[in-house]
Amino acid sequence: MKEMGTMISTEELIKRAAAVRANAYAPYSKYKVGAALLAKDGRIFCGCNMENASYGLTICAERNAITTAIAEGCRDFEQIVIVAEGERPVPCGACLQVMSEFAPEIRVTVAAPDGTNRTDYTFMDLMPQQFILRKNEN
Ligand code: ZN
Repeated sequence: MKEMGTMISTEELIKRAAAVRANAYAPYSKYKVGAALLAKDGRIFCGCNMENASYGLTICAERNAITTAIAEGCRDFEQIVIVAEGERPVPCGACLQVMSEFAPEIRVTVAAPDGTNRTDYTFMDLMPQQFILRKNEN
């Protein structure tokens, strides 16, 4: 199935997310997550979760993908696909807030790594209210 904007399908993004999920570092929760972030220019940025013995330092797959994109100079996103086994990997509040900074209209797809149990959300489904700091235009 072709998606609007780019020629990258959700199925392809699921494959990419499932592939990067294999690199997840989750020795504490055992909950491995992969994310594939599709930029409006067609680039795909991937991320996996990375836990730490100091639990609060853990970074989610979604934010890992987003920080990678930002480092590559990309800030315009169309879709993010997140995969995990077991519990559906709906983005946490911290990841939603980070997404709101760059892509308040991003499409969010969650699925199992094999593409089953898929659900598509609009960003507004998941976070109808965001914290927005008025930018200083001076
Ligand atoms: Zn998160």
